[in-house]
Parts: sequence; C-alpha cells; structure tokens
Amino acid sequence: MQATAWGPGDVQVLGYRGYKERHVFRVASSPQYQFQRAYSWHSRPVKVRAISEELVQRLHDGNIPLNGAELLDLTPGAREARDPCIDTNCVHGGERQGRPRVDDSLTTPIVQTSTFTFRNTAELIAYQEGRYGSYEYGRYGNPTTRVCEEKISELERGEACLLSSSGMNTATTMLMALVPKGGHIITTTDCYRRTRQFIQTVLPKMDIGATVINPTDMVGLEAALRKHPVSLFFSESPTNPFLRCVDVTTISRLCHAHGALVCIDSTFATPINQRALDLGADLVIHSATKYMGGHNDVLAGAIVGNADLVGTVRAMHNVLGGTIDPHVAWLLLRGMKTLGLRVERQNRTAMEIARRLEEHPCVRRVHYPGLRSHPDHAIAVQQMNGFGGVVSFEVDGDLWDTARVIDGVRLPYIAPSLGGVESLIEQPTVISYWDQGPEKRAEYGIVDNLVRFSCGIESMEDIWADLCQSLDQLR
Ligand SMILES: *Cc1c(COP(=O)(O)O)cnc(C)c1O
Repeated sequence: MQATAWGPGDVQVLGYRGYKERHVFRVASSPQYQFQRAYSWHSRPVKVRAISEELVQRLHDGNIPLNGAELLDLTPGAREARDPCIDTNCVHGGERQGRPRVDDSLTTPIVQTSTFTFRNTAELIAYQEGRYGSYEYGRYGNPTTRVCEEKISELERGEACLLSSSGMNTATTMLMALVPKGGHIITTTDCYRRTRQFIQTVLPKMDIGATVINPTDMVGLEAALRKHPVSLFFSESPTNPFLRCVDVTTISRLCHAHGALVCIDSTFATPINQRALDLGADLVIHSATKYMGGHNDVLAGAIVGNADLVGTVRAMHNVLGGTIDPHVAWLLLRGMKTLGLRVERQNRTAMEIARRLEEHPCVRRVHYPGLRSHPDHAIAVQQMNGFGGVVSFEVDGDLWDTARVIDGVRLPYIAPSLGGVESLIEQPTVISYWDQGPEKRAEYGIVDNLVRFSCGIESMEDIWADLCQSLDQLR
C-alpha cells in the first residue's frame, strides 16, 4: 500500500476485529459515513480519507453499527486506500492478518505439524466453545493452509475456501457432500476423465444419477432440470481438451430457478481470467496443481463459495481425509504470488500461437476460445478476461503423423497436466485414452490427430519456431 501524506482531519483506523476474525472495516469517505468491508491485507493501519470530527466522535461513542466487529483504535491521520486489484491480491491476499508470526518473517511460515497443543483443560474448553482461536488436529486445519485458503478466497471473491490434496479429491468430496442419496446431477460432455469416471462408477452406488448435456444445450438443461430432482450442475469452463465454455450466468439462473446448485471447475480459466462466483455460480473448484501452483511441482485442489456450502464440503473432507500437506500449501502460496504475471504471459502466448496455427497448412483445426472460429467465442468474450494458456489443435494427418509432430518438438515436455511455467505437449488419444479403444474415444469426441498444448512462460517466438519446425516434417 502506498503511503500517503497525513492531512488535517484525516483518521487512521487501525482495524476492527470480530467478524470471523479476518475482516477489517474501513470508513468510507461518502457523506453517509458508511462502513465497508475491506480486504484482509488492510490489517495494517487502514488509511481513510478525511472524515469529520463528528464521525470520529460517533465511532468512539459506539453509535455506528460495526456488524458485531470490535473497534480497536482510531487516531487522526492518513487517506483512503483503494480496494486492491487481483494482481495485488495474488501477492498479498490472505497473508497480512491472522497468520502465525515467527521471528518477523516476511513470508508466511510453514507450520509443519500434525497436531496442536493446549496449555490446559480450560484452554481446550475455550477452544471448543469458540472463545480461543486455534487449531486442533492437522486434518481439520493448519495455519499455513488457512492463509493459502484466504488468498484463494480473495482471488475468487468468495467467502470461504477449502484446500485439499488434489483437484480430484476436491471434486469427489464436493459431490459426496452436496448431492444426497438418490439425487441427480447434470454435467457436460467434455469433462475431465476421472471426474466422469467417478460420476459413472461411484455415484450410482448412492443411487445418484447423472444427465450429460452439450455445454451450450440450454434446452437440454431445462428439460433435465424439469425431469429430475437435480441437486447440482457441475461443469468445467473452459473444458478439457476442446476449451468449450458454458454460459455461467444463464446456467446459474436456470439452475437456481429449480433449486439446483452450480459448481464450475475453473481450472483452465484461473481467477485471473474468470470469476465464476461473480457470474452467478455457487461454487468454484480448481485443480490447483495447474495454474495456481504453476510450477509443475505440487498436487492440490481448492473449492470456493459461501461459508455454508464450503462448510458442508469441509465437514465431509474432515471425514474423508484428503488433507493437503502444509508444505504443499506453502508452495502453493509461493506459486500464486506470480499467478497474475504468469497467466498474462500465457494468455498472450496462447492467443498468438492459436492465431498462427490456424494459418498453418499442416493444421486442420484449432480449438481456442479466443478465436472467432471457436463455437463458444461469444460466451468466452462475455465472461472471461483472457482465454488461458492451453491451445488444442488437429494435425493434418493420422495418429502416427501426429505422434511425429509431438516427438519432433524440443521445447515442451511430453507430459499430462498443464498450467505450469514449462510448456507441455500431449496427444490425448495416447496419454489419456489409450486404454479406451477407438469406439470409446469417438464417443468422447477424442480424435487421433488432436494435440493439446499448454503454453509455459518461455518466449512465444521460441515456442512458435519449435512447433513450426516439427509441423513442417509433414509438408
Ligand atoms: C487436472 C484436472 C483435474 C484433476 O486435478 P488433480 O489435481 O490432478 O487431481 C480436474 N479438473 C481439471 C479441469 C483438470 O485439469
């Protein structure tokens, strides 16, 4: 936060604690002298614009409602602080308040412990009754993990976040927690393979059925909502590997009218490119393994939404036990500091690579939501700030021509996953669907000449030169 000059009549609000311990309040400069929720990194003295002596008096007299918060201090001084932008929150979000302080360390410490101690029975009882804020056992929470959850909450602008050991763990725990026995869910065709497997093989054991619709089929969605007792709509946006985008606002309106929740897997978008909660969704999940971590070195998952829903998922998580390790949470915190920078670069690189691939004679088709040729381009433009770092394309050739292109590149690694600093390339037929046979692959729309390219943060021109030299083998 930029320090501003002190002016006569300015006040400095040192913070109001109370509302779930993490929110501070700031005095707005409007004539009504309203209180606004500020972000937690304002836990350092919150600067407010000049306000009247009268307001200062009323604050001290306690006749301004503080939503249950406690007024800590109020002294003359300073100016208003702007609400931070998402890039600022990537760096500071979650890390300025309530975290453990060890030897004045700038970075959030790794609290590498499996359990937490109490001085005596009285302290334990105070903890049980919510009068003493601490932690109990590692499966139920950890200070490092908590800070990371706060950062992700702020990035998605949700009330609460739950981290877990992987994106799959987040998705399966969420489904188990929110869909009742005998319930029904709606998903979309282009779906992460293991999520589909869970829906098709595990959920039926609890008599939970599923309807699968095309991502843009609103008629099919309405019909399914009328026909079944739908608890939840769950889709990626953009999807893997065809980068289809679902219209989150329209879907949320339709689903909410039928009492169904909407959960969007926003892994491919990141909170930099898309804020599904703002668009109307109830929950957002991420495989934080991908862009959030960003360095191809951790597995993690996150779910964000209102406190009630995330609390329900957390209760299930406490039972199922897909706990994230505090060290992984710390690596995630570190990775997310550069999320804004990385995604900006990856957006730019992918857009340019997609454009150039579309012109390349050895490429039949490019799937990228930033291209006008993409079926969901209009939806993507409406709800996204950028189109992400993954480009899928179809080589003008068969399975083995495509394999030659994959084998001919030198910069990207051949590997599953995406979203890290290193570019990765893969042929979905071989890496994800090899065991499925041609019929199943055709059913999922996976064609043999499809390549999925995840742009890293290398130079765009180097990536392009490399792709070109490999594609040119087919000329
Ligand atoms: C990778 C991925 C997952 C699974 O996440 P893991 O962290 O690998 O368990 C789920 N959804 C999408 C869209 C993914 O890309």
